Amino acid sequence: MIRGDTVVDVSAALDSVPAVRWPIDPGDLLIANLERLRGPIQQLSEHGLTRTLRDCSLKSPVANPTKIIGAPANYSTLSAADSSGGGVDSQGLFLKANTSLIGPSDGIELALPGRQHIHEVELAVVIGSWCRNVGRERALDHVAGYAVALDMTVAGGEDRSWRKSPDGHCVLGPWLVTHDSISSIVGLDLWLQVNGEPRQRGNTRDLICDVPRLIEIASSFYTLYPGDILLTGTPPGAAPVVAGDVIDAGIAGIGSMRVWVR
Ligand code: MN
Repeated sequence: MIRGDTVVDVSAALDSVPAVRWPIDPGDLLIANLERLRGPIQQLSEHGLTRTLRDCSLKSPVANPTKIIGAPANYSTLSAADSSGGGVDSQGLFLKANTSLIGPSDGIELALPGRQHIHEVELAVVIGSWCRNVGRERALDHVAGYAVALDMTVAGGEDRSWRKSPDGHCVLGPWLVTHDSISSIVGLDLWLQVNGEPRQRGNTRDLICDVPRLIEIASSFYTLYPGDILLTGTPPGAAPVVAGDVIDAGIAGIGSMRVWVR
């Protein structure tokens, strides 16, 4: 648990996760039991061991999603060229391999030397409970929380799911902000800089398909499970990074993360 610049060790709360045996229900066990763990986490946070944030390595806040879903060209502020591939209405959604998932402290290893690797900062939605064919009115009831994501993409002509799926090409962090600690996900500024130089800037009010609509569309096609990650699309300014670059990316009300490229 994060409190300002302090990390409190609440790992003992995991004792409250029910024992499992095969076959295990799909989904991330921690996210699936988040509501049940709230009490223990709260108690432990009052006298758990603490460390300063800068002394901690930040891993992905979700360990075992059943899928990572992405939205293509979903900002109304994108140029005609950047959205020429088509948005959600014409392209639908896409999947990134689950094995692409890392946390900020892991760093991004570029998959294909000699090819361009593009940064895309995005609002990530973490699904909290099983849903299928959920309408937009009830969609947010199934959200556990939000995080900042980098949907790293190799430029080129291969299938999108191939170019977006190398190991380390989905960064999730710096932590999960639970749905109840965010009053609205509309109107959040998001930004990304490389080596201190501004590259991307946007605001979630410019999403073409907003978060409830994306959940509605996704759940009409896929059953959503606790821990599933929905990447909502990137604002203008996506550009290449090279080994040695340092990416800083953040979303107002969620947090920011530093990720090294190697
Ligand atoms: Mn993307």
